[in-house]
Amino acid sequence: MNRKRVGIVGAGQLGRMLALAGYPLGIECRVLDTAAEAPGAQVAPAVLGRLDDARALAELASQVDVVTLEIENVAVAPLEALLERTTVYPPPRAVAAAQDRLAEKTLFRSLEIPTTQFVVVDGEKDLGVAARELGWPLVLKTRRMGYDGRGQRVVSSEAELAAAWRELGGVPSIAEQWVRFVREVSLIAVRGANDERAFYPLAENVHRDGILARTVAPYVDASLQAHAERWLGALLSALDYRGVLTVEFFQTERGLLANEMAPRVHNSGHWTIEGAETSQFENHLRAVLGWPLGSTRARGHAAMLNLLGQLPPIEAVLAIPGAHFHDYGKSPRPGRKVGHCTLVDGDRERLLERLRAVERLVGL
Ligand code: AMP
Repeated sequence: MNRKRVGIVGAGQLGRMLALAGYPLGIECRVLDTAAEAPGAQVAPAVLGRLDDARALAELASQVDVVTLEIENVAVAPLEALLERTTVYPPPRAVAAAQDRLAEKTLFRSLEIPTTQFVVVDGEKDLGVAARELGWPLVLKTRRMGYDGRGQRVVSSEAELAAAWRELGGVPSIAEQWVRFVREVSLIAVRGANDERAFYPLAENVHRDGILARTVAPYVDASLQAHAERWLGALLSALDYRGVLTVEFFQTERGLLANEMAPRVHNSGHWTIEGAETSQFENHLRAVLGWPLGSTRARGHAAMLNLLGQLPPIEAVLAIPGAHFHDYGKSPRPGRKVGHCTLVDGDRERLLERLRAVERLVGL
């Protein structure tokens, strides 16, 4: 049998979990990364090179049936050039929209997806406008290369705003109104061949210092689910998307506001490995290969806790009923995502109790 091969640009933990999801289906993944010891390169053959290097990308493409990405902060031009020799999913223009906060918000607004109020900050002259229109506090975010809380500052005065602008490098940015949200939720959608679509249930996310700390799913609210599915559906169509697409939302008293999108599998979907009938990783692979999608139904309740900096003792975690452990194969470093732990339970209260037990082990 001719096994299908998928090339993954990037070999972090997302590339690793994609490659692992491929094994039972007989899918052979190849990863592209600069480091031979990258998490994904530990479980799949790697092409070593920069993610924006045309030669390295061509080498990856020559080994596989389709190329996909585990990271959106990559140069789009070499990906577009790759389209001449192979299939690239998601489409590079979806990647372009997701890596620029202004392009992303403009796309959201063109599809009538509500977003936070914002002001474009191209130079110091725009800081006064931002202060007047948005009030305090506000969040200054660089348009590009912002993730896990990087490239953004919360400020409460004009002096702080000017200092933050300089600290962030005086680069094209946006200023956002501070949202007093009730909670943060995300929706993961997947689109396969022939416009086949599936949506996971909403997940509730808690961030600490701009980094996802934990996710509990499903977050059941039929009206919010319907709104979010309609908006992601519009994005899937507008971008002629293939693969997994994630949107993070703020839930306010007046409904959802889209914060940002990720054209890839997402940290807030790690619970789906054990907590859904088909994981986001498997469904992404099915989608890019044009295979039928799997059910996105939740198996009871699930909680995912990110393990940051260093791993807790594995045996102590596994002693907690319903706990699963994921080690990304990284060396410890403060704040680094080195693994995660997922708990699944039929009873939400018991799940949350067990989650607290894991949090205590981790020192939270
Ligand atoms: P982001 O990089 O845009 O996903 O921001 C990371 C996290 O910072 C979000 O998940 C929120 O917890 C917080 N945050 C970002 N923007 C805002 C905002 N405009 N208002 C309130 N909190 C925000």
